[in-house]
Amino acid sequence: MKAIDLLAFGPHPDDVEISAAGTLIRMKEAGHRIGICDLTGGEMGTRGSREIRAAEAQAASRVLGLDYRCNLDLGDGRLLDTPDNRLKVLDVIRACRPRVILNAWHHDDHPDHEAGSRLVKAAHFMAGMSRVETEHAAWRAGALLYYPARQEFRPSFVVDISAQWERRREAAMCYKSQFHDPQSTERKTQISSPDFWNWVEGRAMYYGQLIGASHGEAFFVEKTLAVADPVALFGGNAG
Ligand SMILES: [Zn+2]
Repeated sequence: MKAIDLLAFGPHPDDVEISAAGTLIRMKEAGHRIGICDLTGGEMGTRGSREIRAAEAQAASRVLGLDYRCNLDLGDGRLLDTPDNRLKVLDVIRACRPRVILNAWHHDDHPDHEAGSRLVKAAHFMAGMSRVETEHAAWRAGALLYYPARQEFRPSFVVDISAQWERRREAAMCYKSQFHDPQSTERKTQISSPDFWNWVEGRAMYYGQLIGASHGEAFFVEKTLAVADPVALFGGNAG
């Protein structure tokens, strides 16, 4: 398979679309190949079903223009960082050979998000260990970047996604079973509240404001950035 330059992991189908897909769209526009790996099928969601979520993920993939999407089906509501799961995730990384990986922030209300984040972090490192044998050859991505879900962090940087915002919204809206639908008789959840999308947009606008853009996506990177020329990097923007 041709390499996927930017590979995003989501604990459930829709997590990447809700928090980080503007950056995927922007990277696709810049000529990079983009992909998403869902760790679970989202079958424990209060609304919808596994089949509905799979069809919604397919529709969202088309809107984003993904070059790759897979679902490891590791068990919604019981996702754990185990040796077996690490092998499955690291083999996806080796098959895709990403330059950069996006991962959910590990401090989160949902246990799948915390466990999935730890699992992907471990797999990212172990994918580069040649003594760990799987179907594909060892590969280590250049960086692991975290995106926020329910809990915040102070961003290491923000990507301006103002021009990508409408398409990101369209991709997230493919998960119709999860969002507000006045006709629905299913049990109400936070995500199905009529306010949910306003909260998502409010946060994107807050991150945008930090960099003087209308909408932004925040990322945290543990790796220290090497900078050769701080004047070139930071000197262009007054204030
Ligand atoms: Zn989730």
